[in-house]
Amino acid sequence: MSDLPKWYELPPGGIILEPGSSLRNKTGSWRVIKPIIDQDKCVRCRLCFLYCPDAAILEVDEEYTTKAGRKYTVTYKVNYDYCKGCGICANECPVKAIEMVPEVA
Ligand code: SF4
Ligand code: SF4
Repeated sequence: MSDLPKWYELPPGGIILEPGSSLRNKTGSWRVIKPIIDQDKCVRCRLCFLYCPDAAILEVDEEYTTKAGRKYTVTYKVNYDYCKGCGICANECPVKAIEMVPEVA
């Protein structure tokens, strides 16, 4: 049996009474395709970070040097606990550094 609340246990209007409670709802389990960021192609423009509707792109203080020798002090990573696989990040990336690939169990 599901341990989800019954309809009559929900607050009126389905309002969220406890801020931050969505962190417990790991929406990554809905995903059928997932984004993979090519760190060598990525130019650190930040658009994926800004456009992701689930805030599932992380901006990490991690240095990275591309194969071509470009040095960056920040790296963008996907938080797969919350990424729903919508593909918006891949669509918005101006240099096509994000590829959507099938999720494999
Ligand atoms: S696929 Fe969608 S949810 Fe996942 S990181 Fe990209 S924009 Fe965010
Ligand atoms: S949108 Fe593309 S180039 Fe810009 S930070 Fe994201 S992966 Fe990198």
